[in-house]
Formats: sequence, C-alpha cells, structure tokens
Amino acid sequence: MSEENIFDIAIIGSGMSGSYLAYQLSRKNKKWKILILESKKASSPKVCGEYLCPAGHFLLKETVPEIDLSSFLPLRGMKVFFHAKKILEGSFFHYQSLGGLSVKRGVIENQLVSLACKANEKNLLMENTKLTDFVKEENSYLLITENGNFKSRRLVAADGRVSFVGSKMNHKKIENKKKKIALHAHLKFKKEMFVNEDRFGEIHLLEEGIYIGLNPVSNKKVNFSVTIPVKKYLAYENNEKKLVMDFIEKTSLENRFDFTNFNFHFSKTYPISSINKKAVLGDVAFVGDAGGGIIDPLTGEGMFNALTMSFFLAKEISAEVIKDDVLWKKSIDSYNKKQLRFFFWKKKFDLFLQFGIKTSILPFIILKLISLTEKGSDFFISYIGNIKKIKYLKKII
Ligand SMILES: Cc1cc2nc3c(=O)[nH]c(=O)nc-3n(C[C@H](O)[C@H](O)[C@H](O)COP(=O)(O)OP(=O)(O)OC[C@H]3O[C@@H](n4cnc5c(N)ncnc54)[C@H](O)[C@@H]3O)c2cc1C
Repeated sequence: MSEENIFDIAIIGSGMSGSYLAYQLSRKNKKWKILILESKKASSPKVCGEYLCPAGHFLLKETVPEIDLSSFLPLRGMKVFFHAKKILEGSFFHYQSLGGLSVKRGVIENQLVSLACKANEKNLLMENTKLTDFVKEENSYLLITENGNFKSRRLVAADGRVSFVGSKMNHKKIENKKKKIALHAHLKFKKEMFVNEDRFGEIHLLEEGIYIGLNPVSNKKVNFSVTIPVKKYLAYENNEKKLVMDFIEKTSLENRFDFTNFNFHFSKTYPISSINKKAVLGDVAFVGDAGGGIIDPLTGEGMFNALTMSFFLAKEISAEVIKDDVLWKKSIDSYNKKQLRFFFWKKKFDLFLQFGIKTSILPFIILKLISLTEKGSDFFISYIGNIKKIKYLKKII
C-alpha cells in the first residue's frame, strides 16, 4: 500500500462528532496524519432539530477560535406545551449570558473539517466513501471502502446512531418495541406569525410519548419534527400527511403554519436512539451517537453530547498514546470513564423524562409545579440546556 494511504488515526463519519474530533486532533499535533471517511457528501442535510444548546454553543465558541457562528440566530429559551396548552416557559439568560443557537449543522461540520484538513496537507477527507469492512492487522487497521483501501494505526467510530463499526464489533441491539421514528420538515410560518426577537424553541408533548420539536431556524421558517413510536407510525399505513396533520391539530399549530403550497414531503429517520451504548469496544473508541451519545432527541442535546465526547477523547490522545497499544487502551478507557461520569445524571434525568412523557399526566403535574415561579421555569430550561455543565467545562478547557 502506498505511503499516502497510511494514516495515524482514521475517523469514520464526518458528522458533528467526527468533524470536531478531526479538528481537535489536528490542532493538538499538526504532524498526525488523519483520515476522515464519510459515506455521503460531507455536511449533507440530516434529520435534526438543529437546535444547539447553550453548552454546545459555549464549547464551540471557546475551543474553536476560528469558527464563524455569526449567521445563526440566537435562542432565548424554551417553551413546553402539553397538547395545545403552554405549561412552562424558561430563559437560558437567567443563568448564563450565552443562549442557544438555531444552526445549520452542515455549515459547522464543513468549517471543522476544512480547518482540520488545512492544518496538515496530508490529512484527507474522503467524501462519498463508505467503510464497508475493516480488518485488524498486527499494527494497524485495514479499512476497506468502495473507493480503495486504507491503513490506519488507530480507529475511531463517529458513524452515527446505527454505527457500522459497532455492528461489526457485535454491539448490543435495542429491542424493536422501544424504537421510535421521527418525521421532519421545514414549515413556513404564516406571515403574521414571523418571529423577530425573543426567539424560543418549543417542545409539544402529546400522548404515548409522542412529541413535536420546533426550532425557528429563521424568522420565516421553523425546523419541525415529530417523534412517535414505530407501532403508532405503522398504524397510519404510510399516510404521513394524515399522521402529521393529526398531531398538528392536537397542538393547534395549524393556526401558525402556512400549508397552502406545502407539498408534504417529510424526511424520515429511524431508529432515533444510539444502538451501541458503549464508547469503547476492544481498542476502538466511539464518539457521538455511535457511542451511546443520544438516548432520544427530546431534550435536543445530541450535538452537544457529540462535541463533548470528542473533546474528552482528543484530550486523552498524545503522540506516545498513538504509537503504544497499552497506552492507547489505557487512554480510551480513561476517556470512557470520564464521559460516563460527565453524562451520568443527565442521562438518568433524560430517561426519567422519557418515562414521564409516556404516562401523559405525570409530566404535566411536574412541569406545572416547576412553572409556579419564574426561577423554577428558568432553572428547568437551563438544566435541559446543560448550562450547569458549562462551569465544569470552563475548568477543563
Ligand atoms: C429527529 C431528531 C432531531 C434531533 N434534533 C436535535 C437537536 O435539535 N439538537 C441536537 O443537538 N441534536 C439533535 N438530534 C441529535 C443529533 O442529530 C445527533 O446527536 C448528532 O447528529 C450526532 O452527531 P454524530 O456525529 O455522532 O452522528 P451523525 O451526525 O449521524 O454523523 C455520522 C456520520 O457518519 C457517516 N457514516 C455512517 N456510516 C458510515 C460508514 N460506514 N462509512 C463512512 N461514513 C459513515 C454518516 O453519513 C454521517 O455523516 C436530533 C436527532 C433526531 C433523530
């Protein structure tokens, strides 16, 4: 194999976790040769609410000095609705000067990968290049793709919720009955509903764990997604228009959106949770959704989790670590422990919320109690926005 195709680290996937890891590593040591394999065109659109929580906003701003986030509109906070009734509204600014952002994630991923490739001209992004197999050899991984083969000393999987790398390494599968599906589109506001200042994200809770997320990505358009159990989706027998309109009616959102020229194309994604729950399998490190980064998009923190996991992993890697098998294993195990500790309570809280929204009335009562004071509402929304994590991140950046 020619020298050109041999790398120090290969990252599979150029989503938020892969692109940020490539950037962090390229900044740490310009001599490392990094390969990024991406099965699609890098930065192609994905089903995602594209709400970046305040902690994710903070992490990008503080750790990527070159990043340009100026085209994205700020989000002041969140509103929570139960069916058509608003039960809580909270602002991030009570606890932190930085709000959330309505982003175009592809723009961010593109900037990160470009910066990584600029740092060392030997770094390589292979777009439209799917990893189809990999074999562990004595001192490296042989990576097999439709566009030729590569070798890399170390392998990191950033290949998303279904993770091909994880499935090859026999990760545990989640049960079918727990799976959910998400439908997604950009909807246009009716003219009188345009959003100017005071921009809020919205979560609309419905029955049986169904919810709608809204993120006003511009003053005229909202990023809309509805998340439902697969069983419920199948009951609509592919009539997505009816499904979406049924849920929109239950939330009274039809009064706010313009459906006159809407051609009703919704993108779908399934499953919506990480299949692999482990951030380390053997000597392979997993970041973002590939390593259990997302249990459900309800609280809109998948991108933050992806960024944080890559941040932790990059911190553990040094030139000695890349060369030495024992040190590499020690470092990725340490990464695993740190990320488990960091996300421990938040994941428990998210699971509790998941349980709550399935029981319908429980979240209503809890949220109603919290919303009795403005401070309570702000605290709840800030917790969801991971603002408490910023304090810890400030210490370790
Ligand atoms: C409906 C929905 C709404 C969401 N809303 C939000 C939100 O508002 N805010 C938020 O923060 N998070 C949200 N999330 C979660 C967020 O999208 C993810 O957590 C985030 O994208 C994780 O980034 P990642 O880099 O780990 O994975 P991904 O972004 O999935 O990137 C993985 C990449 O790997 C590539 N890949 C896969 N297999 C291969 C292969 N074999 N070879 C090469 N490349 C491969 C893929 O093409 C992809 O580009 C939402 C998720 C869903 C499902």
